[in-house]
Amino acid sequence: MSRRFAEPRLVVATHNLGKLDEIRALLAAYPVEILSAKALGLAEPAETETTFVGNARIKAHAAAKSSGLPALADDSGIEVDALDGAPGVYTADWAETPNGRDFDLAMRRTRAELIRTGAAEPWTARFRCLLVLAWPDGHDEVFDGRAEGRCVWPVRGVGGHGYDPMFELAGSALTFAEMDPGEKNRVSHRAHAFAKLVAACFA
Ligand code: IMP
Repeated sequence: MSRRFAEPRLVVATHNLGKLDEIRALLAAYPVEILSAKALGLAEPAETETTFVGNARIKAHAAAKSSGLPALADDSGIEVDALDGAPGVYTADWAETPNGRDFDLAMRRTRAELIRTGAAEPWTARFRCLLVLAWPDGHDEVFDGRAEGRCVWPVRGVGGHGYDPMFELAGSALTFAEMDPGEKNRVSHRAHAFAKLVAACFA
């Protein structure tokens, strides 16, 4: 049995305002006040684990411990099968440049690695989103959301963010960047993880 969420306030362990708004919208139907780690002045811990769940746990437990409130964290990225799951937890790192993140560069690098390894198409891949809800007493609940699909080249679409133009959802002719945002938010890895979280702890 999952632990039910019964507190009046929840800290979202992110300094990313986009993620914070998305989470506020997803939990809008429940009587909980959402606070951000940034607004509370909480430090951002180093993401030193090699798995999504490991890094989401670090973020959620650090925020719960320092705030004394339950905290929710997510960690996400894209796993490409022919690259043994890379970039995976290093998805954002593949986009790092001295001038900030460049996802065109990261997608070109991903394609170059696929060509270098001689991987046959389809280049199957999945987006993953791990959500961890942690309480100050150390208890946590973990939810794993996945969106299966394949990497395409050339990339297509102008919507979304990150790797969206390179990822075509299985059973759809569209990349995430070609979908309207409402549609992507219904079928994405994050939507699946949130559906599990809400069913287990909020509904
Ligand atoms: P995080 O903020 O440490 O979880 O980094 C996740 C990274 O994975 C982001 O910077 C994006 O590059 C990528 N990512 C996660 N979800 C998506 C998505 O829905 N579309 C495109 N890229 C994503």
